[in-house]
Amino acid sequence: MQGQVAGDDAGGGSSRRRESLVRGPIIVGAGPSGLAVAATLSQHGVPFTVLERSDGIADLWTNRTYDRLRLHLPKVFCELPHARFPADFPTYPTKHDFLRYLRSYAARFGVSPLFGRTVTRARYDADASLWRVTAVSSSSSAADGGGVTTTTETEYASPWLVVASGENAEVVVPTVKGREMFAGEVLHSSAYRSGERFKGMRVLVVGCGNSGMEMCLDLCEHGAMPFMSVRSGVHVLPREMFGASTFGIAMKLLRWLPIKLVDRLLLLIARMVLGNTERHGLKRPKLGPLEIKNITGKSPVLDVGAWSFIKSGNIKIVPEVESFTGGNGVRFVDGNKMAFDAVIFATGYRSNVPFWLKDDGDLFTEDGTAKQAAGQPSGGDWWRGPNGLYRVGFSGRGLLGAGADALRAAADIAGRWQAEVAAAGGAKIVSSSSV
Ligand SMILES: Cc1cc2nc3c(=O)[nH]c(=O)nc-3n(C[C@H](O)[C@H](O)[C@H](O)COP(=O)(O)OP(=O)(O)OC[C@H]3O[C@@H](n4cnc5c(N)ncnc54)[C@H](O)[C@@H]3O)c2cc1C
Repeated sequence: MQGQVAGDDAGGGSSRRRESLVRGPIIVGAGPSGLAVAATLSQHGVPFTVLERSDGIADLWTNRTYDRLRLHLPKVFCELPHARFPADFPTYPTKHDFLRYLRSYAARFGVSPLFGRTVTRARYDADASLWRVTAVSSSSSAADGGGVTTTTETEYASPWLVVASGENAEVVVPTVKGREMFAGEVLHSSAYRSGERFKGMRVLVVGCGNSGMEMCLDLCEHGAMPFMSVRSGVHVLPREMFGASTFGIAMKLLRWLPIKLVDRLLLLIARMVLGNTERHGLKRPKLGPLEIKNITGKSPVLDVGAWSFIKSGNIKIVPEVESFTGGNGVRFVDGNKMAFDAVIFATGYRSNVPFWLKDDGDLFTEDGTAKQAAGQPSGGDWWRGPNGLYRVGFSGRGLLGAGADALRAAADIAGRWQAEVAAAGGAKIVSSSSV
């Protein structure tokens, strides 16, 4: 069920402003989190409006991931609320499987986001008890024989705002001295699709997370020569142990054992399966993999094949990059220099919440990651802020966490929505006013 939007043009030419009435909450982002909240609201009979900056659902999965990507975790840990993955999907669905699932999910629950709407500002208007959310969209027309781009700024207003713009909204590329002097290609992992076009090339991959490791593997398999630059320690775990998913085993053990003990068991088994990773240049951090995940949100690497190429020397481990030296040269912090045809930054993503959300109700840190209020237990209601503000998909627990957040946020909004409907005698469905 989609909230109604009533527009009113207030300008013309290349830039115009509109104001819109919406029914039900505004959801920012049509990734898995936004879709999960919308689907659950629809189950509760609550209308909603989803604003999405790209031209389709799940932009990260559609446009910013490499071809060989599969879900890192088994499918049972990646399902969104109210819909199982089809039985014929593999245990680790491909990104294409996952996108098929998301598209049919959106269709099944009647989620039709407003695409091409980039939210640039959201503030709470205490006088009106409404969130005022500004979104910018552009359209081109062939008027006057040339492309005329019209930018429209629309303000949507609602008593409820769901932030579902993701922990991975913007790419992170570190500033490296001499970058402008590098003669080869430099790209972020979000622009990498396949190793095919790097065949025969020396490629430096900066970063050793799941993406960095998997791109090195892909480069190897396409006949390129990957070098992986590692700054600090990393925990590499086999994706499966004794035929079961490592993640699943860890989840089960955590029900009975303290996290430190589970970490020790995981590392013991990892050592049995993979050997000593430090001997091949991958130092393990002092804290265990689950403890690090808990404290920093950083996931351990679940090996899908790169490790054997590291052991065989086909993927070479190199230190942190110090600078680009001109031509194709790169200098490392140990003083060594090497030449590369291309450099890929697998240096991750960040949230963009601080750029657009005002009055964040203390739900977010300065970096736009989730803030956990002091003294609040995990699983408490820190997915909800004051003034009808909700945070979905920021728990650092991937799709599993997004689903759990979505269920709680939607149930809470539905309760408030139904209370307002009842207060209005059932006749009037709450509708916010525009400015
Ligand atoms: C390579 C890779 C592999 C991953 N594999 C797994 C996995 O196997 N299992 C797992 O659980 N997790 C995985 N993750 C984590 C993954 O990001 C999340 O699980 C999932 O995509 C989170 O969904 P989301 O909707 O919260 O965020 P996103 O998928 O990032 O969706 C957010 C949406 O909000 C939109 N948006 C952002 N800002 C604005 C704005 N200002 N205005 C309007 N719209 C906006 C974006 O365009 C996007 O469509 C992976 C991540 C990466 C990068």
